[in-house]
Amino acid sequence: MENSKTLVLLVEDKENHIESVRKVFKLGCERIRLDVVRNLADARTHLKKFTPHLVIASYVLPDGKGIDLLSTHKARVPFPLLVLDKHGDTEVAVDVIKRGAVDYRVKSEQTLSDLPHICEKILREWGENRAQNRIHKQILVLSSVIQQISYSIIITDRSGDIEYVNPKFTQITGYTLEESIGKNPRFLKSGKLSPNIYQDMWKTIMSGKEWRGGFCNRKKSSELYWESAIISPIRDREGAITHFVAVKEDITEQKRTEEKLFQSEKLKSLGIVVSGIAHEFNNILAIIKGYAQFLEMYHQNESELKVGLSTISKASDDGAAIVRRMKDFVTADGSSMWFESVDINELIKHSIDYLMPKWKMIARGKGIGYKVDMKSLKDVSAVKGTPSELREVLINIINNALEAMPNGGTLSFRSWGKGKKVFVAISDTGRGMSEEVQKRMFDPFFTTRMPEGTGLGMSAVYGIIKRHNGEVSVESQLGVGSTILLELQATHKTVHSIISPRSINDEIGPLYVLVVEDEQETCQLLDKFFTKKGHNVKCVNSRNGAVELLKKEKFDLVLINVALKGDGEGGDLVKVFDSLDKRPKIGFMIDWRDKAKFMKSEHLKEDFVLRKPFDFSELSITIHVLFSNLGK
Ligand code: ADP
Ligand code: MG
Repeated sequence: MENSKTLVLLVEDKENHIESVRKVFKLGCERIRLDVVRNLADARTHLKKFTPHLVIASYVLPDGKGIDLLSTHKARVPFPLLVLDKHGDTEVAVDVIKRGAVDYRVKSEQTLSDLPHICEKILREWGENRAQNRIHKQILVLSSVIQQISYSIIITDRSGDIEYVNPKFTQITGYTLEESIGKNPRFLKSGKLSPNIYQDMWKTIMSGKEWRGGFCNRKKSSELYWESAIISPIRDREGAITHFVAVKEDITEQKRTEEKLFQSEKLKSLGIVVSGIAHEFNNILAIIKGYAQFLEMYHQNESELKVGLSTISKASDDGAAIVRRMKDFVTADGSSMWFESVDINELIKHSIDYLMPKWKMIARGKGIGYKVDMKSLKDVSAVKGTPSELREVLINIINNALEAMPNGGTLSFRSWGKGKKVFVAISDTGRGMSEEVQKRMFDPFFTTRMPEGTGLGMSAVYGIIKRHNGEVSVESQLGVGSTILLELQATHKTVHSIISPRSINDEIGPLYVLVVEDEQETCQLLDKFFTKKGHNVKCVNSRNGAVELLKKEKFDLVLINVALKGDGEGGDLVKVFDSLDKRPKIGFMIDWRDKAKFMKSEHLKEDFVLRKPFDFSELSITIHVLFSNLGK
């Protein structure tokens, strides 16, 4: 078989020497195939086609030196080269070996007769070297895999003491190789997991099996992180366990996402319960309140009864206030169609103005101080939202922050924009929250401030922010402070400036107002409100009624209950408005659940939205904004 033969190439121009070599090989080794070329050029051509196992070259050749067959710049010598020289010369020998030849010999009788042995030795050593090289290379590849892989790897000895950790481990934990060597991996333990997990792990791997599971560990920075791990025993040739290797993946992000999902699912189902309770409760309160007022009217003269009744009345008002906050927690969909553009920085300043007098008084009473830092409020886009609701959000968060600093501290605000989002961070230097409290702080009725706390502040914040298609999250460290982060949707519409009730003068009008509403009480209420302010009001209880009246009379303002029953599609209303010389301002009256989505299909554009139950100071502001520019 030609293939299993050892290929030897002889590069030699002296015919007598060629003959001698041929003879030697023919005698001793029939497994050798000897090819002969007579100069360097032919040798190179030959080497392009074949890779011999061994090349024997004369040092002096007609067109150069035998050693020139090995190009100097190649790191790896492709074949073993034996150089034969007529005269032995130490300097030449050193040079030849340096340049990669495996041996240098003088052409002599002795060498010639030894040639089979010399060749055999060269081939054996070359083979061994190659195998070692291969292993060396494999080790290099494996080690760079371990160095660069995105899993952290820990190798311990049989008793669990660390012998090696890879750079990813250092990147995640903050502990270097030197800091980790010799330690037991339990030095990372957070104490958050039950000891059973570790026992189970040791039992499994000591019995020679692979263990899979998760850990919650602590970094050098004391931050917690989660990882999933596969730990396997490593055995020697005899099958005895010598090491353990743990391959771990950081799953903290994943865990957080899962937790968030769980949190939002939990709050969603709580929302359903709360919504039901709020609704039922409200009905009961309305009855109690109604009868208390009714009885109060008829027993004006019996002072004892009157006091009792007014207490009942007051208590049901308090109840109604709680119900309102419970309703705030319930996220209603599709409400974004009622949003306005809000300057969030201005809203923050207003909320501070509104709250600070009370807190300054408390601080003065206790001899402490609060600092408010608003330096980091950046110029950001307006956000889509309902000003009164967003104000409620800020007020709740600020109140909590101040309550968390019973010995004074700093309240700081930051705002920034990113893409189509606006972020607001509100930080305090207060007592901070445990992880448990952070997880539950948005639950309705969760409070650590018994008995004053209702636990409805942050749940209202959550509901309102969700309704604004936003996100709210918390970051906190016990004893250091808390930050509440709000993420809101940006808008490029211009902002109506928010006017605080104080600056309103009521010198507007008289306006002609049309109220389209089928609820008798609401009509009466609005009639009273507008009449008292000197405006002229007309009420109709249907859209058709409104269409008729609008054809005949001029109005400055039309308030429409979008949830009006009956009356078909009401498409005529749009047509009438379009046909008027001067379109009146239009206000939609909606109920807190925003159930009336059908108005959208009418293409009727509203100027503002009025939520039930009415907040008359809010309505005064709106009218002021809409009509103070009248005629300009
Ligand atoms: P309440 O203020 O009535 O207790 P909230 O819903 O406003 O209810 O807040 C719920 C709980 O969250 C509080 O009782 C408190 O434990 C915690 N909390 C909220 N904000 C902070 C804060 N800034 N610092 C520390 N704890 C807070
Ligand atoms: Mg609160």
